[in-house]
Amino acid sequence: MPAAPKPEILAAFEAAKGFMPVHEGLALYAAAVEAGALGLPLLEVGTYCGRSTVLLADAARAAGVTAITVDHHRGSEEQQPGWDYHDPQTVDPEIGLMDTLPTFRRTLHKAGLEDHVVAVVGRSPQVAALWGTPLGLVFIDGGHTDEHAGADYEGWAPHVAEGGLLLIHDVFPEPADEFTGQAPYRVYLRALESGAFTEVSATDSLRVLRRTGAGS
Ligand code: SAH
Ligand code: MG
Repeated sequence: MPAAPKPEILAAFEAAKGFMPVHEGLALYAAAVEAGALGLPLLEVGTYCGRSTVLLADAARAAGVTAITVDHHRGSEEQQPGWDYHDPQTVDPEIGLMDTLPTFRRTLHKAGLEDHVVAVVGRSPQVAALWGTPLGLVFIDGGHTDEHAGADYEGWAPHVAEGGLLLIHDVFPEPADEFTGQAPYRVYLRALESGAFTEVSATDSLRVLRRTGAGS
């Protein structure tokens, strides 16, 4: 049986603003618990309001490791005013730009998981360039352009430890199913073609790969 979150964690996840459906969240949680056994940190790109972070954080707590979540908190292209995924409540009225950091902090506080998460506010490639710690899990759920998704892969996949997991969200192999472009699908193909990663499971648009070789 894959590990499942306790009811209060699932409730905190469901109560949080965000984009991850429950069944994909359950797959994310099971993968995070499994990867936690490596005793290495678990990292997410794309915090938004902390919905998926709740699950990573609880898995990190159970494993006695830290979850790291990276976001500039200014929103992706499709979340900006006028676009399909925009939520006016995420705009900071003083400066007129999106700021999801306050909502994220409330989500984590309400879930009782603040002690298990380090939130990094910044652009993913800039943070990745400073990174030097092997990771048990990398979850790519950031920007959906080829520029951003590609940079997330190039920046973070090399840090996945041997036996560790690389998770990619919003993988849509059929162009008809895609909502925000197929860049995550192209990243998924790159990971497989690199020979460094092997597919473990697919739950709708969430792909779980394991590092079984060197490089990326
Ligand atoms: N994981 C979240 C959803 C993430 S949405 C959930 O479960 O609901 C994608 C997020 O990626 C947005 O908050 C956006 O600000 C962030 N993002 C997009 N491109 C980024 C980049 N280059 N660096 C850092 N964050 C980025
Ligand atoms: Mg997503």
